[in-house]
Parts: sequence; structure tokens; C-alpha cells
Amino acid sequence: MALRCPIVSVLGHVDHGKTSLLDKIRKTRVASREAGGITQHIGASEIPIDVIKKVCGNLLQMLKADLTIPGLLVIDTPGHEAFTSLRKRGGALADIAILVVDINEGFKPQTIEAVNILRQCKTPFVVAANKIDLIPGWNSKEGPFVLNFNEKNQHPNALTEFEIRLYENVIKPLNDMGFNADLFTRVEDITKTVCIIPVSAKTGEGVPDLLMMIAGLAQRFLEQNLNLNVEGHAKGTVLEVKEERGLGKTIDAIIYDGIARKGEYLVVGGPDGVVISKIKALLKPKPLDEMRNPRDKFKPVKEVVAAAGVKIAAPNLENVIAGSPLRIVPEDKIELAKEEIMKEIEESTIETDDE
Ligand code: GDP
Repeated sequence: MALRCPIVSVLGHVDHGKTSLLDKIRKTRVASREAGGITQHIGASEIPIDVIKKVCGNLLQMLKADLTIPGLLVIDTPGHEAFTSLRKRGGALADIAILVVDINEGFKPQTIEAVNILRQCKTPFVVAANKIDLIPGWNSKEGPFVLNFNEKNQHPNALTEFEIRLYENVIKPLNDMGFNADLFTRVEDITKTVCIIPVSAKTGEGVPDLLMMIAGLAQRFLEQNLNLNVEGHAKGTVLEVKEERGLGKTIDAIIYDGIARKGEYLVVGGPDGVVISKIKALLKPKPLDEMRNPRDKFKPVKEVVAAAGVKIAAPNLENVIAGSPLRIVPEDKIELAKEEIMKEIEESTIETDDE
């Protein structure tokens, strides 16, 4: 059975560098052409495992594990509003999270909030200790952190300053919240200790290490309880409802399981029950080199396989709201899908009442 990419979300306090880090991750390039590159989805970016392997090179030996996941699907919208609104039955849509903490500022209210949300959702996470380029005397450069973290490249005072900030601003606050945490190179079991990966979204230092550790964490949890098998018809969550020129109201969605096919039916939760609509088109972003007309941003596809971000054009989407669960099914499965969606909506209402 095919495995899907684990879905990755980015959380953290405002201004600690979530957007910058996502931009840097999306710009990850490999020198060799045959490895391909990052694929832009609707609302997400896919980093194929070949790219991660090329970018990490020898670093990967640190993981002591073979990577069988096909890559990572990183959600483009950071922050905990996106994280909590993107749900699937039984929890968060994201399988793994990156908590961004400014290593110089340390934990702030939204950092604590994010950790509490991740704990509640039982979402495994790594910490990206960002802005290491601002550590006094730090000589930051693009590429793996492990190659730059030594007495040859750093002044002893900068190394001392790094260790102080790492402990005081990141490890200690995590310990205070009940988590074991350490610099990723010092972690024995990544399922028991939160890995901290020092990065700079400005210079790109540490981005290979970060990608490696997310992939490694997903791989370890796959061996334990993370189900990445792609099974049956498409299940997804609405990211956004958008008016598009020439298409009318469309929905942007993340498909987290199954396969969606053109000509099938969309079954999606609305405020007054369930909306059923025959799909006109499943759309993906047009690669830049195929985009002749800037208004012509999307290209229709025959099918979409999880995990993926997709735009769905269909009639009657006016009342659909972000965060709603959806299914894409053939005509004879509409009733079943409708029941599933109603059950999901009911369950999520009970949850909110309890809060
Ligand atoms: P967000 O609110 O968490 O998404 O943070 P942003 O990505 O918007 O970053 C906030 C500010 O910090 C911006 O001015 C960025 O240019 C800056 N910034 C982000 N990452 C780094 C970094 O690694 N080093 C430095 N020096 N500045 C950074």
C-alpha cells in the first residue's frame, strides 16, 4: 500500500520567525537536477524525500533509520489558529509540528500556548531554535548546523553564549512544562526527548538538520502508531473558501487520506448540515514555467492522492466554512460519506461544549 507524506505544521510566538522559516524551507534547492524539487500544492508545499536526502547528505547517518516516507507536506499557513482549525477525526490534521522559538527571546505566551495545544493533541514536535545568527559573535552560514557548530568555525565566547541561550531560553522552559529536551545531536531517543534544532531563517543555517529531524521523527512515529497508508476515497479538511475569477466559489482543501477523482461528488460540512456538490474540477497550481497568463493560475488534474493540497471547483459552495470536514466520493457512496461527516460535526460540537 502506498504511504502518504506526513503533514507538518509550524507554530510559535509572533515575530519568532515562522513565516521566514517556511519561506526558507520552501526555497530548499538541490544542486542536482534529477532529484526534482519542491512541489507547490494549494496551501502547502511538498518536499520529496530525495530532496531531503540530497540536502542532508552524510548527516542522515545520525538518524540510524531508513527513510521510507515519500516526503513531507508542509502547511503554508503558520500559527495555532491554522493548526487548531485544521482538524481531522480524532485530532489535529498535522501529524508533526515545528515549534519556532527565538533562541534569544525564549518562551513567550504564544510559545506556551502552542506547547499546550501540541500536548493536548498529542502531536509530536521538534523545536526550531531560530535566529542563531543574532547570537553575539556567531558566524552563521547556510547549510548544516552540525558542520558549523565547532571551535574551528565559532569563537569560544559565541559557543558559550549559544549554550547559555539554548539552556535558559529553550531547554529549561520545556523542562518546566514537563518535557525532556536537548540539542538534537545529544538526543538518544527522539520519541522521548524533544529535539532542538538551532536554525537561522535568515542565513539558512540548520535548515537541512531541521528537515532531517522532522523526517526522522515522522519515520519513528510511523513505526509506532502513525498511520500513513493511503486508503479508500478522499478525506480532507477545508482550508479556505475563495472566489476565483471564472470559477466562482471554490474551496481550498488538504486531503489527508485516500484518492479524489474528477467527476466524483464533494460531501462537506456546512453550518446547516451537509453540502453535496458534483465536482467540476480538481485544481493544482500551475508551475511557474507553464504560467503564460498570470490570471491562469491553476491546472485541472484527473486525480489527487493524499497527502495533498487541492482547489475544488463545484456549485453550491457559498455556505461552506473553513475547518469543515470533507469527503470526495463516487455517487453510490454519497449517503455513507454524509453520515460520516455528520458524525464528525457532532463530535466536534461536543468537544467545544466541553471546553
Ligand atoms: P512570524 O511572525 O513568526 O511569522 O515571524 P516572521 O517570519 O515574520 O519574522 C519576524 C521578524 O524576524 C522579521 O523581521 C524577520 O526578518 C526576522 N527574522 C526571522 N527569522 C530570522 C532569523 O533567523 N534571523 C534574523 N536575524 N532575523 C529573523
